[in-house]
Amino acid sequence: MPTVEELFAPPPEVAAHPAVAAMTRLCDDMIGPHAPAADDPARGVDPAHPRALAAAGLLSVRVPATEGGLGASQRVDVETVELLAGTCGATWFVVTQHRNPQGDSTSPIKGLHADAYRHGPAAARHRPGLAAATTLTGIAVAHIRRPGPPAVRAEPAPGGGWRFTGTADWCTGWGITDLTMIAATTTTGRFVFALVPTAPRPGLRVGTPAPLAVMGGTRTVGLQLDGMTVDAEEVLLDVDAAAWIAADAVRTADTRPATLGLLRRVLVELERLGLRRDRPDTVDTASVLGERAAALRDEAHALLIDVPAGQRVPERIRLRGEIAELTVRSANALVAARSGSATLLTSPEQRWVREAMFHLVQGQTDVIRRAQLAAFAG
Ligand SMILES: Cc1cc2nc3c(=O)[nH]c(=O)nc-3n(C[C@H](O)[C@H](O)[C@H](O)COP(=O)(O)OP(=O)(O)OC[C@H]3O[C@@H](n4cnc5c(N)ncnc54)[C@H](O)[C@@H]3O)c2cc1C
Repeated sequence: MPTVEELFAPPPEVAAHPAVAAMTRLCDDMIGPHAPAADDPARGVDPAHPRALAAAGLLSVRVPATEGGLGASQRVDVETVELLAGTCGATWFVVTQHRNPQGDSTSPIKGLHADAYRHGPAAARHRPGLAAATTLTGIAVAHIRRPGPPAVRAEPAPGGGWRFTGTADWCTGWGITDLTMIAATTTTGRFVFALVPTAPRPGLRVGTPAPLAVMGGTRTVGLQLDGMTVDAEEVLLDVDAAAWIAADAVRTADTRPATLGLLRRVLVELERLGLRRDRPDTVDTASVLGERAAALRDEAHALLIDVPAGQRVPERIRLRGEIAELTVRSANALVAARSGSATLLTSPEQRWVREAMFHLVQGQTDVIRRAQLAAFAG
């Protein structure tokens, strides 16, 4: 019977890819040893680590080599994300923000509504830095997913550009990133995405880091915008709101590779613990959960990589809910197997339980929440 590690092993050509080798090395030597500190609000993610990932091309895995990336396949990209998220949730979460301005959020829009979006001047200006991740970015966009009155309004400014007013509850990586993408809603049914320096400016009040039970070291703040001026040159994108919401629903339907990375890590650790303590029942539990998890991961990979975005969406949503629930269950199984010492702050098990909780809410939409609750209800 295969071990859990073997169940999750990537295909040989993926395992041998230089990006996977580089990520494995950085995780083992640098990011893994710092993971407890990165989780700790008093210490946090080391700002040098996102830069080291960027310098190794690991924030540009799929970006063509001609644009400063590694030009690798999506399967290779997924493997690198799984490895990073299974090593240090906080470091993964800081760097994952960069994918959005880099292109992840615009590509589904291109497919769905080619006429509905307009790139602003900031897109061309920052394109090389975003592609190669020499310019690191954060985002404050979750508020535009909420129905009801806009949390952040964009009004045309005299002489061009915009004024942003309102509250963006979440912005991770403040003080680590170079630029932040902030979304606001116009009165004409569009979203404006501004790419501004991650720095104080008139009309912007930056909150203190949120007192979080998980991701405490990610420098996550709220942004209060009091008529903050956005120059026309700082506009990255201007999109039809309904088109963005439709594209976002497609994008958020998929299971996050990061969740799969955590799931894989806790099950590998569960099996190792069983072998170390010579407990066949623990090894059996790891095996049963591992087989289920690997099967769900194969489905998620197939939908993400082989099936065009926008197809089989209900299946993707159900799967995302089931994988989130299985990740929570598996992380708790590891705590049960390790017993009391799992709750020591020096033990990674309690951190993985909290990270599993976090994967429930990251990029959560209404339909995803329902799918998660259905999975919990069995
Ligand atoms: C530690 C942490 C860091 C984060 N960092 C970032 C960040 O850097 N940038 C960022 O943009 N976001 C960030 N988020 C936000 C994260 O992606 C959101 O938690 C997630 O999108 C859920 O949104 P919400 O928390 O605003 O919850 P809610 O406002 O409760 O909404 C959850 C979802 O339910 C739906 N919904 C809500 N109300 C209704 C309703 N009345 N009817 C129908 N549907 C509804 C919406 O689709 C919404 O997205 C962070 C969150 C956490 C916890």
